[in-house]
Amino acid sequence: MIAVLERLPELVQRDFHDDPRFRIALEKFVPGEGWSLWMASPGPVGSGSRCVVLRPKLADCPEAFAHYVIAHEFAHAHLHNGGWGEITDIEEAADALAASWGFLQPMGGFVRG
Ligand SMILES: [Zn+2]
Repeated sequence: MIAVLERLPELVQRDFHDDPRFRIALEKFVPGEGWSLWMASPGPVGSGSRCVVLRPKLADCPEAFAHYVIAHEFAHAHLHNGGWGEITDIEEAADALAASWGFLQPMGGFVRG
């Protein structure tokens, strides 16, 4: 997870760092069960609500795919679950932004979240 964060553009890292709502905590990693990703959910500033994204199969995925999934979720967070530029579909926007960071969706990969 940190390996992915460090590869994001400095501007994006600062966006996360400066947003007190953005919190990442890697829950216990359980082989076969995966791990939990905690993130600030979009909302009015100060709302402070969080959502949990569970990726039970992530632990079994190739590293490149796992990194792509994490980058995709970071992209959602950076875009506050909105579109990116002319891309209004939030999933396409997250994919496009993650790709711009160098995390391309691996061939045959599929993720929605
Ligand atoms: Zn998504």
